[in-house]
Amino acid sequence: MRVLLVEDHDAVANALVDSLGANGHQPTWCRLGADALTAHHDADVVLLDLGLPDIDGLEILRRLRRVSAVPILVLTARGDERSVVRALRGGADDYLVKPIRLRELLARIEAVSRRAPSGGQPPSAVVRVTDVSVDLDARTVHVGGDPVELTTKEFDVLAVLARKAGAAVSRQQIMDHVWGDAYLAVSRSLDVHMAALRAKLDRPELLHTIRGYGYRLGGSSS
Ligand code: CA
Repeated sequence: MRVLLVEDHDAVANALVDSLGANGHQPTWCRLGADALTAHHDADVVLLDLGLPDIDGLEILRRLRRVSAVPILVLTARGDERSVVRALRGGADDYLVKPIRLRELLARIEAVSRRAPSGGQPPSAVVRVTDVSVDLDARTVHVGGDPVELTTKEFDVLAVLARKAGAAVSRQQIMDHVWGDAYLAVSRSLDVHMAALRAKLDRPELLHTIRGYGYRLGGSSS
């Protein structure tokens, strides 16, 4: 399983990365909460420390939950009931109080991923809107059968819209997904990527602007 570890303590993180790897997982590690906001896209489960140097873990948890259903296991030195309750209410699937016991951690990773077998991704990986097809797993786009080259961010923007094809998606939702946090993202950069997407797809009638709100891929064009 692809396990994203968000932990600022090097010794703890190294030990966990080694142990997870030795037990058949593919761990990746980041020290900052801000990095978790984008790195979670490639994770089947997230192990989230609450005491992080940049942004409080509970805040990271809240922001991740706005954009993802990925199972999140909170690792905390704060064993007090209030922190644990706040983490669970904030969307954590489970929590472990430090020091972490490895066997228990492995069992809990298994348990939370059993409860969320899709890893937060919708089951259908290819979205088709008229003659545009977006393969969310392969990260490829075809228009009229021909491949279209997109940058990473352009694809990410399109993927957010494709996952909710036919429905309106707000600018904030797009920025949360692609840049990790709407408040950190530069709003202008979304406009730039959207303009590039429109030009590359060459299907202006498919990418609707919803004034004052956001965008929609496909759906009725009124
Ligand atoms: Ca910490």
